Amino acid sequence: MSEVVLEARHMKKIYNYNTSNEFEALHDINFQVFKGDFVAIMGPSGSGKSTFINNISTIDLPTAGKVFINQKEVRSMSSNEIGRFRYQNLGFIFQDFNLLDTHTMFENIAMPLSLAHVGKDEIYSRVNELAEQMDIAHLLNKYPNECSGGQRQRAAICRALINRPHIIVADEPTGNLDSKNSSELMKILQKLNSEDGVTIVMVTHDPLITSYSSRLVYIKDGNIETVLDKGDLTQDEYF
Ligand code: ADP
Repeated sequence: MSEVVLEARHMKKIYNYNTSNEFEALHDINFQVFKGDFVAIMGPSGSGKSTFINNISTIDLPTAGKVFINQKEVRSMSSNEIGRFRYQNLGFIFQDFNLLDTHTMFENIAMPLSLAHVGKDEIYSRVNELAEQMDIAHLLNKYPNECSGGQRQRAAICRALINRPHIIVADEPTGNLDSKNSSELMKILQKLNSEDGVTIVMVTHDPLITSYSSRLVYIKDGNIETVLDKGDLTQDEYF
């Protein structure tokens, strides 16, 4: 494991920059995510976890410092190039699923492919194949509010995976799930990581969820306080 896929160098984020409300949420972050990594980000509420994950994954841009994706500096890329990188490489999973209630489960899952102008037949077969794997194929014509939380999160995962991303960025993906659905989701992520080599960067506040990762980053007051490698520990020992 050596190829760096995401990197922050002296990354700093100041909200409300140049106003009287300036707030420095990240101070001087240096961090590398390697190909095949499974990184869990933990830390107290308000410590900067979401800011970290958003800024290292092109959702937001840092106020100072540099972010590299596939060794290319984000600021040197055009917005089209960043968009293409996102489409080709990244899948996002959020706590509140972010599904559109006015669209069916099928339409929600297909969204990234529709935006990328993938052909109808290809969309149909890819959505059905993934939905089958995630056990929600029978729900594709339903609307999200007709489905359970676990089913909606599975649809959100299908949407995150539909473009076959190399990197999954997940912010509290189990935050709205019960423990059974949480552990099922973690098994899905762990399988994607170990069998398909998908890189995962995930924010969570739950040590049990973290125990599925291979590296823990602990953020406190806008700084990385500790990085812990799972190494040869078993999941129980790591937990
Ligand atoms: P965490 O994910 O660890 O809970 P966040 O990254 O969401 O923390 O927030 C870190 C700090 O930055 C918090 O103090 C939060 O209030 C502040 N913050 C987050 N987003 C914004 C924003 N858009 N504008 C101003 N302050 C923000």
